[in-house]
Amino acid sequence: METRRVGVIGGGVVGLCVAYALRNDGHDVTVLDAGPFGAGTSLGNTGWVTPSFSYPLAAPGVVREGLRAALRPDGALVMRPGLDPTFLAWLWRFRQRATLENLRAGTRLLVELNRHTLELFDAYQTAGVAFEMHATGLVVVAKDAHKLDTYRESFAEMRRAGHDAGLVELDRDALAVAEPALDLGVVAAGMQATVDRFVRPESLAAGLVAWLGAHGVDLREGWPVASLRREQDGWRVAGGAGEERFDRVVVATGIGSVALMRPLGIRLPIIGAKGYSLTSRGSGTAPRTALYLAEPRLGVSGYDDAVRVAGVFELPGRSTTVDEARVGRMAEAAASYLVDWRPTEPITSWAGLRPATADGIPIIGPADGLPGLYLATGHGMLGITLGPATGARVADLVRAER
Ligand SMILES: Cc1cc2nc3c(=O)[nH]c(=O)nc-3n(C[C@H](O)[C@H](O)[C@H](O)COP(=O)(O)OP(=O)(O)OC[C@H]3O[C@@H](n4cnc5c(N)ncnc54)[C@H](O)[C@@H]3O)c2cc1C
Repeated sequence: METRRVGVIGGGVVGLCVAYALRNDGHDVTVLDAGPFGAGTSLGNTGWVTPSFSYPLAAPGVVREGLRAALRPDGALVMRPGLDPTFLAWLWRFRQRATLENLRAGTRLLVELNRHTLELFDAYQTAGVAFEMHATGLVVVAKDAHKLDTYRESFAEMRRAGHDAGLVELDRDALAVAEPALDLGVVAAGMQATVDRFVRPESLAAGLVAWLGAHGVDLREGWPVASLRREQDGWRVAGGAGEERFDRVVVATGIGSVALMRPLGIRLPIIGAKGYSLTSRGSGTAPRTALYLAEPRLGVSGYDDAVRVAGVFELPGRSTTVDEARVGRMAEAAASYLVDWRPTEPITSWAGLRPATADGIPIIGPADGLPGLYLATGHGMLGITLGPATGARVADLVRAER
């Protein structure tokens, strides 16, 4: 296999996983990021590695439901179409995609992409990438038992699409064992996707950066890329910090991919879907699992030294400004499912933009008509889950080049 000089633009989880896979294949890899590595959307998310709930958002009824939810200030799915033409075009595409047939085709693609996800996470740890990972399964709970039906149906779709794993119904005794922090006076029903895991995303990014640095990858923070220019059999990358030439370039800049690719004539169907989280230590019995609260649609991750509550899908998300009142309401909603865990100061609140494609499928592969340029972006709600699989796929494609 030919060794190439590859520039990976974007050092979020996706770019770092791509750099890992390319380095493992023996390439000479450089990662360029405008800011610090892992400080974009890869920072404050829930960190779930969830092959059991990897399905496209564009499902029948979602647009209608989203518009209804938008009328409620606390709705987990918020749409503010306004007159933004980019968003309206995205919404139009999303609507077109929201058929049962497309949902099934998209689910099959994601199941296939996830086929080796858990093995890949294990392989990272075996190779010496140090990060916090918990194999507790994913517990979905509801105050109204009927609210679990949607998740049962989605899981059944995943199974039909080839996802080979279990979803176990939890009675009260089993719920108490699965997550002792739950208040069984209010939680009516639960179930557990058994193979799913969660990681502390900050530790995954830090672990990858440490591994890449120790394995000869050139890591450059504070290197914003302004333009990409094709040059003979390679690409010239220019930015505030200078110019570099690479044989191959991978654009893994999350929501930033849209602006970077536009001058090259590629309009990526990606918009920002804003989400929030709060992370803190707390008092009382802390959750220790990945816990999904069906009514407020919040995820809770019980890390070694903190609990994170995350959620909200606000379209279109334009900035990462934190709405503290919303974060406060998320904390209250989460606490209402728990016996006595309450966040204590300091509480870190955060907002990030999921790079959401209209069909819910990430864009991984060669950029149309631009030889030597690859895209690894648009991971939406699934960038942590799909990071290692994305890296593996990009490395396969570069290896398969003639
Ligand atoms: C609230 C919330 C909860 C979530 N929970 C989960 C979850 O549980 N599981 C899951 O799988 N996913 C989850 N996600 C989604 C996940 O966080 C994202 O899909 C993932 O972080 C995207 O990673 P990325 O590397 O593509 O983007 P980013 O992490 O945003 O990284 C992109 C990087 O590119 C850099 N960049 C941008 N433009 C340029 C440029 N021109 N030049 C140089 N560098 C540039 C940025 O500085 C940034 O570091 C969640 C998201 C949110 C918001």
